[in-house]
Amino acid sequence: MSEIIIKTERKESKVELPDNLIFGRTFSSHMFEMDYSSKKNGWYNPTIRNLSKMDFSPAAMVFHYGQAIFEGLKAFKRVDGKIGLFRPDKNIERMNSSASRLCMPELDNNFVLHALDELVKVDREWIPTKAGHALYIRPVMFATDPFLGVRPGEEYKFAILLSPVGPYYPEGFKPVPIMVTDKYVRAAAKGVGACKCAGNYAASLMAQREAKAAGYSQVLWLDAIEQKYIEEVGTMNIFIHFEDEVVTPRLTGSILPGVTRLSVIQILKDWGYNITERDVSIDEVAAAYRNGKLKEIFGTGTAAVISSLSRLKYNDLEMKFSEDEAGELGKKLYSEITGIQYGHIKDRYGWMKILD
Ligand SMILES: *Cc1c(COP(=O)(O)O)cnc(C)c1O
Repeated sequence: MSEIIIKTERKESKVELPDNLIFGRTFSSHMFEMDYSSKKNGWYNPTIRNLSKMDFSPAAMVFHYGQAIFEGLKAFKRVDGKIGLFRPDKNIERMNSSASRLCMPELDNNFVLHALDELVKVDREWIPTKAGHALYIRPVMFATDPFLGVRPGEEYKFAILLSPVGPYYPEGFKPVPIMVTDKYVRAAAKGVGACKCAGNYAASLMAQREAKAAGYSQVLWLDAIEQKYIEEVGTMNIFIHFEDEVVTPRLTGSILPGVTRLSVIQILKDWGYNITERDVSIDEVAAAYRNGKLKEIFGTGTAAVISSLSRLKYNDLEMKFSEDEAGELGKKLYSEITGIQYGHIKDRYGWMKILD
């Protein structure tokens, strides 16, 4: 791969971030992009340039047949003043497995790590320094060749965008009400549920809209075949804290393998919790609730890190947890993970990639 061409038109004025950073609304001044052509032997023209519009044919294959995948990770301004990325290698690995499943070209892991570093360095002033703030990084890849036949694309664009973000819950770590849906499914085994591909999110919108209308912030997804086993909550992985066990659904192919999930499993093991990856039915959770053996439920993901449930509605049963305070284990995990990210806590796993 050739060297990255850096075209920065540096404005001398200092970057001024809005006070109230809404997730995903503000973008930094630069982006990374490169193109792929199966005829030109792969990826070419890696460039960091000013963020601006892109030009595509309305026949670009992504608009018709949906070959689009993405990732989400964060860079942090740490307490020692350095910049750190949280487990970026895991995101690139996952992007490559999404690419492979959707017949899209894979990326060179080290080259993308290098591109991430370079882009974040160019826009380092865009990393918010306030507590709980971070720079959200959004890599995305899609098919661009203008062609209306159904086959894998032959031309692709890969881009990386940067978006400064505030804390996911600005009023503090607030538990959210969730509703179990058996009306819709997110993904089926042997499908693309384990990929971060755009179509999965389009498919989930109707359930989310109906949950909102019913007064819930998200849905809890059950398996596609029996509508019995718990899979995910919204766009997060799920953990259920029973009296003597913490359970997260095992990866069956329809569940997105979250980097936060992986990190939480590791931390819980080291803390001596009985953490298991296994099938867990919604009825088992309801029974534990009725017997007083259900302590808390939380979701995990890059954006919110940990998101506790205040309520879980399942048919006529409304399982109730604290409305104003996150569960104990959720809170502990949140401060551990964010502690490692910002550098308050020693990075004993070597998860942070520190930029020099
Ligand atoms: C991104 C995502 C997650 C969380 O993954 P992280 O790597 O922890 O951010 C979980 N479920 C779905 C459906 C997702 O898209």
